[in-house]
Amino acid sequence: MLGLARDAGHEFTQDPSGADVLVVNTCAFIDSAKQESIEAILEMARHKQDGSCRRLIVTGCLAERYRNELTREIPEIDAVLGTGEIPQIVQAISCAGPSANAAPLACFKSPIPNPKSLPTYIYDASTPRVLATPRHYAYIKVAEGCDYKCAFCIIPTLRGHYRSRAPESIVQEARTLVAQGVKEILLISQDTTFYGNDRHERHALARLLRALDTIDGLEWIRLLYLYPTTIDDETLAAMAECDRVCKYIDLPLQHASDPVLKRMKRPGTRQHYDALLTRIRERVPGVALRTTFIVGFPGEAEADVEALCQFVNDHGFDHLGVFTYSHETGTSAFALEDDVPARVKAARRNRLMGLQKRLVKTRQRDRIGQQARVLIEGPAADHELVLKARLATQAPDIDGAIYLTECDPTSYRPGDFVEVQIVGARDYDLIARPVGSA
Ligand code: SF4
Repeated sequence: MLGLARDAGHEFTQDPSGADVLVVNTCAFIDSAKQESIEAILEMARHKQDGSCRRLIVTGCLAERYRNELTREIPEIDAVLGTGEIPQIVQAISCAGPSANAAPLACFKSPIPNPKSLPTYIYDASTPRVLATPRHYAYIKVAEGCDYKCAFCIIPTLRGHYRSRAPESIVQEARTLVAQGVKEILLISQDTTFYGNDRHERHALARLLRALDTIDGLEWIRLLYLYPTTIDDETLAAMAECDRVCKYIDLPLQHASDPVLKRMKRPGTRQHYDALLTRIRERVPGVALRTTFIVGFPGEAEADVEALCQFVNDHGFDHLGVFTYSHETGTSAFALEDDVPARVKAARRNRLMGLQKRLVKTRQRDRIGQQARVLIEGPAADHELVLKARLATQAPDIDGAIYLTECDPTSYRPGDFVEVQIVGARDYDLIARPVGSA
């Protein structure tokens, strides 16, 4: 949307009070995300009274899911674009131009038929892009949609069936980004290991990784959002053999107790997951494992939580996220009783995160004295004399980081690679000092 708007001649501002048009891109996955999205819309709506805003546009999953409710409850909204209507952003913005008064303000409040973008829009290498990330890394969406039916999840309803982009388009986009200074690309989708299956292409992800691995100037390729039944040995082999592919597996497992997995309509069992994690570690030596779980799913008993804690204890994940279950209309789990009280859900989440913190602490201490290559992110948020950086085993935003002390911060720029020695550890983060450029 940013790229399309820029190419149509619009300028961006960081100051909402001075903007002619405000676009709120929303999420509707879980309750807290919906709440955050609505608060952002209401906050931006105020600029119609006390700022220069003439048009408020709401886009994304909340727009897709609650189009009618949003326009009914928040009259300040002028246009709503669902997940298939991204190219219409230019038309929606231009209604706010000098001829705004002549434009029917409600023109986008009903879904717009768009044969090119249905069921959900996915861009390609020719779509203009403006990076919303720092200049040295970028996300590339390799597919859109999802063919699974996890009981708690509304995404397939909002995003439609899985559709992969052509590999040439992804490689071309990566080349363009690298020419602009990007050092790390993160391949994302709802299920990245399903890539190519909808096009009946076998081992498409492994081939894509090998093609990306040949791009000069690209340093790190990271895969996010893998699925337990579609990780094949070819992908693991490509990960192990390609130097630029980070030895990093992000595999949301959601739970590890068999009865809960079954009710969640997730594939596999605790036994399958044990075997899978062992296979991953054998095939990709030194791999960092990240997973996420949901606690408080309907019917989850203390014994299920105990089994989950045991699983975490047994596998020693490098990175772990825990969400509390959100009871969403439109999902099949909505027919079940949301019978775990909110405070119990929170306590179970805290229990798991406390366990993870203790496990990580021991492992982090073992790393002191080791050397590693890190990517500089820039000055640390709370200390300008300290630099924030990442290891290849740490993804931006979601994982811990590594902080560099005993160095002149002005000698390094974001996107530089530096060889460091680890000198300390704090919870999920590490502390290091440079020993040379990498
Ligand atoms: S695989 Fe992911 S996106 Fe698809 S239904 Fe399951 S949780 Fe939702």
